[in-house]
Amino acid sequence: MNHLNIPNFIKILKENKISRFHLVYNQQTKKIESSHEELKFIADFINKDTRDFEEHEGMFFQLTNKYDVLQTVFIHRTKRGQAAGGVRFWQYDNLEDYLRDGMRLGKGMTHKNALAGLWWGGGKGVMVHNTEIDKNNLKYREYIYTEYGKLLTSIKGCYVTAEDVGTSVEDMANIYKTTRFTTCIPQNTGGSGNPSEPTSRGVLRGMEAASAFLGESLEGKTVAVQGMGHVAEPLIKHLFNKKVGKVIASDINPDIVNSVKEKFAGKNFDARLVSKHDNSILFVECDILAPCATGAILNDKTIPEIKAKIICGASNNQLEEHDRDDKALAEKGILYVPDFLTNRMGIVNCANEQYGYVNDDEYFERHLTNGWEHGIYQTTLSVLEEAQKTGQPSSKVAIKQAAEMSMELHPVFGHRSLKIIKSLVDDEWYKK
Ligand code: NAD
Repeated sequence: MNHLNIPNFIKILKENKISRFHLVYNQQTKKIESSHEELKFIADFINKDTRDFEEHEGMFFQLTNKYDVLQTVFIHRTKRGQAAGGVRFWQYDNLEDYLRDGMRLGKGMTHKNALAGLWWGGGKGVMVHNTEIDKNNLKYREYIYTEYGKLLTSIKGCYVTAEDVGTSVEDMANIYKTTRFTTCIPQNTGGSGNPSEPTSRGVLRGMEAASAFLGESLEGKTVAVQGMGHVAEPLIKHLFNKKVGKVIASDINPDIVNSVKEKFAGKNFDARLVSKHDNSILFVECDILAPCATGAILNDKTIPEIKAKIICGASNNQLEEHDRDDKALAEKGILYVPDFLTNRMGIVNCANEQYGYVNDDEYFERHLTNGWEHGIYQTTLSVLEEAQKTGQPSSKVAIKQAAEMSMELHPVFGHRSLKIIKSLVDDEWYKK
């Protein structure tokens, strides 16, 4: 499997005249089954390799007619409701990396949505960029995203998509042309708009809870922030409002560094321009470290050098190898606030946009107040307390809590999306 690159896999699909196929979990045999005998080798691989696979309810694949773009919906668990999670547009070296990434991301959304108390299940969309085409080519993008919308329409709503890495608001508008099963549509068609400011408020709440866990507040603290982008900039503003002593931040983009530096002129702000592989910001003397740039930055090379007592940031998948790095942080006595807990406001912001908007929306704001048991502040405290009590790393504790919540059935619709998946199999969806 790991030697099968994407172009060769596409060749296999074309030779067998397959433009759609599915891999669906059989609840009786407890195995993934393939819609096509020719693709049984994928099901066999997934059934044996459980690093990322965990009873994913269904995976639906489509190869676009033009441009040869492989498009997929990875549905993990839909007990709390339709699977929700963004669509990623990315490059993969081989089929295994693609499948494993999709399954891992889908499972991650189950945890994020459940821990946030949202009545949504977990899933993710992934599209493989055809490297022979310029990814900024507007015709290419318009075509592949409208085709993606058709894929979502065809699977009848068991997955509802959103924006993710590689996908823009314009792409979401193209998806919306061909399906209603999307959120994060442009604001001029009723969408919820940029989630970065609410995300920064969520990260701030995580930091406040972790500080409170240590009997402290943010006042006077030194905070190091990696990245100065859409989330980091409002976060820095909130931190100064909370009277932190100093903020040190880095970015690889000189324009961003200059503009953010200008915004916080007169504050105790150290803005650093760094090169792409310069992670020195992670190692500065500080109380709190906030990764707000890329993922996988907490690993066996960086963790030993980190001086912060608390790590709490917006980046997705901060731990390079979950179990190893989660444990290493706990052993070093660092309070790690899991990323999927603090950065939830991105999905909270868009997930329920079809229910309309009110000022000071309590269903939104409760995530950011102290009063609600599933809010970011209370959840962070309960995860850190449980981690201390049991000696387990914090991310493991948070995943356990999330997994339990993900088993609760939607109060109105129950496990309806599983029925949708079954009907797609019964109706031979892949032939349509
Ligand atoms: P962004 O692209 O606006 O900002 C990221 C910034 O990091 C950019 O300015 C980029 O130049 C910089 N950067 C990249 N590599 C760097 C490096 N090695 N060192 C220092 N800076 C580097 O993204 P964003 O919307 O601010 O999101 C930040 C992170 O949070 C991303 O990982 C994103 O997936 C995650 N996230 C964002 C949201 C949201 O609402 N925007 C929600 C959930 C998760």
